[in-house]
Amino acid sequence: MADRTERQPQATIHADGAWLAAVSGATREILDPADARPFAVVAEGDEKDADRAVAAARQAFDHGPWPGTPAAERAALLRRVAGLLVRDREELGLLESRDAGKTVEEGRVDIDCVADAFRYFADLVAAEAPGRVVDAGSPDIHSVVVHEPVGVCALITPWNYPLLQASWKIAPALAAGNTFVVKPSEITPMTTIALIELLAEAGLPAGVANLVTGPGHTVGARLAEHPDVDLVSFTGGLASGTKVAQAAAPTVKKVALELGGKNPNVVFADACATEEGFDTAVDQALNAAFIHSGQVCSAGARLIVEESVRERFVTELARRAQKIRLGRGTADGVECGPLVSEQQRAKVEAYVASALAEGAVLRCGGKRPEPSPERPATGWFYEPTVLDACHREMRVVREEVFGPVLTVETFRTEEEAVRLANDTEYGLAGAVWSADTAKARRVASRLRHGTVWINDFHPYLPQAEWGGFGRSGTGRELGPAGLAEYRETKHVYQNLAPKPVRWFAG
Ligand code: NAD
Repeated sequence: MADRTERQPQATIHADGAWLAAVSGATREILDPADARPFAVVAEGDEKDADRAVAAARQAFDHGPWPGTPAAERAALLRRVAGLLVRDREELGLLESRDAGKTVEEGRVDIDCVADAFRYFADLVAAEAPGRVVDAGSPDIHSVVVHEPVGVCALITPWNYPLLQASWKIAPALAAGNTFVVKPSEITPMTTIALIELLAEAGLPAGVANLVTGPGHTVGARLAEHPDVDLVSFTGGLASGTKVAQAAAPTVKKVALELGGKNPNVVFADACATEEGFDTAVDQALNAAFIHSGQVCSAGARLIVEESVRERFVTELARRAQKIRLGRGTADGVECGPLVSEQQRAKVEAYVASALAEGAVLRCGGKRPEPSPERPATGWFYEPTVLDACHREMRVVREEVFGPVLTVETFRTEEEAVRLANDTEYGLAGAVWSADTAKARRVASRLRHGTVWINDFHPYLPQAEWGGFGRSGTGRELGPAGLAEYRETKHVYQNLAPKPVRWFAG
């Protein structure tokens, strides 16, 4: 990466164009999930740091040039950022791998997707008409609906896709002309810090992009309640998201929530009728559940498979799951990294223990792997785990595990498949596998989830909205709706021939 700033290592709070240490002077070590060793130290901000960053964003919005910058110029800046991301792809991919534990290849793919998000929102605003003229039914009335930036945005992001989740907020927020304060997860802030440096390098005015590193219950909570914040966009778990919505309510700020999922992967027997179909469905079920060790909001953590193919399907799935090569994300040939933290692994272990106590049948995994040179004993590794004979009453089926744990349920009829797939308080994503296109589309149309894949799992498109039904959240990211989140709508009604109304006689 280019040497872009004079930033001292622990000055990771960015307010009004300056890199600062925490007001309290506190710091936090960032740990490598592969060996639990610190590889960076950042400022541990608190409410005071949040206030300082919000003040900078407020000033830049109310008095700075960015909100009034023409859309074409904003788009040009976003495209420059995309170019810088491409330039720094290797370094950023590696940083994401060390921060979040994912493989370097996954890190690189993330950075490509981040650049795509910046390009997409640049193209979207650059192509827009300035306003929608409304026919008021009179030549004397000129009526137009325009969009304006919301104001100061608080952007709170999780640890599983640190920079990707941040970019789905930062790119549209900037495209729409807002200023922002971003708070990355306290355990994976490194690439978001790097992005803020890139935004400055691309020419973004001081005060538009601000960042506070620090915990959710202090920095995040303060941003959510802050009276000078106009919008809070949060991606994370259901429990924290609920607190954010509550904290935001008294000031009636706009709230967008991207929360968890308990995503069904429905496999009909006809999808497995040929060897090729069977192999594809198993391979994709494996990918759906275990990529990034299952720490994916849209992970296909619930396999709902037709009874007649269940035994063959689960046997092959478990055989392949046992062969997934676990190790440090930077090691050659490693297919899956560790879990992000000790706490996360403990959570996964508790879910597996509860499932076994409730009668689930362990088909593979269910334990920590043997240490190896590419898998230090101190790393937070956990084997891909397949739990058979699961049902709705089990906690592991109802709650988001966010780890490499796949539960298996079975069905006999299409009706039952739909019922099971919708039997969740969440509604983020789901898939249906069938060789019968009409059936697949029929089932897809009945699934109460924000994204439904037919004969696929996990792809998303920047131009298509992403978000959840039910308790998976409110609002959408990506697509035109993902830009609309960051805008106010204003109707300007102009009377070209004003006359008295004479409603009142006097
Ligand atoms: P988390 O809820 O613990 O934390 C998310 C962010 O919120 C962090 O920055 C955290 O510091 C902050 N936070 C925590 N408590 C807060 C509070 N009271 N007020 C304000 N901010 C607070 O989630 P996580 O463990 O970092 O991430 C995993 C979760 O994120 C999973 O549930 C996953 O499904 C979800 N997720 C959803 C999507 C999506 O697109 N829907 C994408 C990625 C992750």
